[in-house]
Amino acid sequence: MPPVSIYCSPERYVQGAGATAALGEQMALLKMRGPVLIVAERGREFVPRDEWAATLGPAGYEFFFHGFNGECSQQEIDAIAAQIKARACGAVVGSGGGKTIDAARAAAYLAGAEFVSMPTAASCDAPCSALSVVYTESGAFSKYMRYPRHPTLVVVDTAVVARGPKRLLVAGLGDALATWYEARTVAEARADNFFGGKPTVTGTGLALLCRDILVADGAEAAAAMDTHSVTPALERVVEANTLLSGLGFESGGLCVAHACHNGLTCLEATHRYLHGEKVAFGLCTQMVLEGRPREETDTVLTFCEKVGLPTTLAEVGVDSGDADAVMQVAERTCQKGETSHNEPFEVTARMVADAIAAADRLGTLHRDKAWP
Ligand SMILES: [Zn+2]
Repeated sequence: MPPVSIYCSPERYVQGAGATAALGEQMALLKMRGPVLIVAERGREFVPRDEWAATLGPAGYEFFFHGFNGECSQQEIDAIAAQIKARACGAVVGSGGGKTIDAARAAAYLAGAEFVSMPTAASCDAPCSALSVVYTESGAFSKYMRYPRHPTLVVVDTAVVARGPKRLLVAGLGDALATWYEARTVAEARADNFFGGKPTVTGTGLALLCRDILVADGAEAAAAMDTHSVTPALERVVEANTLLSGLGFESGGLCVAHACHNGLTCLEATHRYLHGEKVAFGLCTQMVLEGRPREETDTVLTFCEKVGLPTTLAEVGVDSGDADAVMQVAERTCQKGETSHNEPFEVTARMVADAIAAADRLGTLHRDKAWP
């Protein structure tokens, strides 16, 4: 392939308080086939059965449920794919967090069904993407699965998002904040995005818009979650966390922040922390590794502190005194094929380990207002 620039996106994006009610109509408009398999976390359905019936019924869709087991592992993906085939479903709706959506999307692809993404939290940039992050049964990063097509439809009901835990939205802020800093590096390095093409100005530009919305509205949106209120600031941040971050990371590309996240997942102790929380610390590491100006690193650290994102190793479950653990993370960050190699310079495990340790120290000093 010649060095072309590539930009991709879902076919249709629908967002608003009560957007679940628009699902059936939107699916029919896109001429999606039924029956529909709804994949939702077992015992934690965010949308009650009668709401599904009220939107899918009038549009003529028969539907079934699959209770997601909590981990986007190959075994769970295969179990969902078997259900899709057994019921001859034409469409799959993934309703839940990033892992639920990733597992449902992988299964839909394997079974040849169309996919509808319905995130119940603005916790990560999975919903709009054309890839799944697959983990082992015990929760360690295993691989990326990439698909030729994006979700046909993405429906984000902000009333459902606002009912959820604040921590999920805040984690989404961490994932979305990294988008611009990673996309900028990829553009500077003229490295490839997720589609094996060069970033378009559109993809990189959307990543910048995402960062600007977060800096302007992130803290206000996080505060709205305290009272489970849907406000214009929350709407803008949900869109930034879900749509802009999703488009920005895929079309703009990833580098050290996400590679460091993948590195952190090799330590069992980090598994109770969310994707975006680990990405936030990964971003702090990236800022140090790239030697960015103080003002920029200050913007990142100040934002993280304001909304409650980790800026130290301890805040993602790692003992900063454990040099072996830090080196293990650094080695995993630099594994062959990792996005850490999208930097415009060679990245070694030693450099990453030093950046992790320095970022951890900087995070502590900044929080204590003792940054020299
Ligand atoms: Zn991410």
